[in-house]
Amino acid sequence: MKCPEIPLCPRQRVRFVDSHLHLDASDSPLAVASARAAGVVLLACGVDRETSERVISFATGAPGTVEAFVGVHPSEAEKERDLSWFPQSLERARGAGEVGLDPTYSSTGEGSAQLVAFTAQLGAAERQGAPVQVHSRGAESQVLDVLGSFRTGPLLMHWLEREDVLPAVLQRGYYVSFSPALLYSKKLQRLARRCDPALTLVESDSPVSYGPLGGVHGPALVPSVAFRLAELWGLPPREVLAQTARNALRFLGGDSKG
Ligand SMILES: [Zn+2]
Repeated sequence: MKCPEIPLCPRQRVRFVDSHLHLDASDSPLAVASARAAGVVLLACGVDRETSERVISFATGAPGTVEAFVGVHPSEAEKERDLSWFPQSLERARGAGEVGLDPTYSSTGEGSAQLVAFTAQLGAAERQGAPVQVHSRGAESQVLDVLGSFRTGPLLMHWLEREDVLPAVLQRGYYVSFSPALLYSKKLQRLARRCDPALTLVESDSPVSYGPLGGVHGPALVPSVAFRLAELWGLPPREVLAQTARNALRFLGGDSKG
């Protein structure tokens, strides 16, 4: 089967978009070079100041292949209490991410480092109209409450796992992304069946590796996720791969229709 190609700009064709991943220092130059050669777009997120600077430099070196999202991940909020760098960093990036709340790491209560960091970053994203990639594991309802006070650019609930919040998420027009865990997780498959194809993205969350898939990781897994979605929705795989790529470009603020 021939892969679909989506026009991103007159000089570039896109085969698929990995809508959420992290680029580490060691093997990333190779990952970026392979993505560029294959026509793959990578939406790369930082988790702290240092990794945010790194994704910006990857994006600068590979325009049209790497789109930089900068931010402080819930796991790093205690360490990164000084966020004075963030607004300027966001100006040089495509959007904010990975930001959010997760009680696995530390408190998400009133006055907590996580909540302060999340709201500060949403405030900056609102001022700049930037798209935002949100982590909400274990704090989905609280995250939705907080998001209700901000008007940022397009919003992605990355790797959403809670089916009961899906109606509210879709009603607000937020995007939802699926990782390769969709290939074996019955819970994610149930959630995906109820998802709106026009608001669905696909991701690898690299360098996360997937034990049930033999420990593999990386953007090359992304088409399999689209193929599994196609099966769940009863749609042609090629159409779903193209649709998720168009959705990702729309999330970025492009004018891709459909
Ligand atoms: Zn991530």
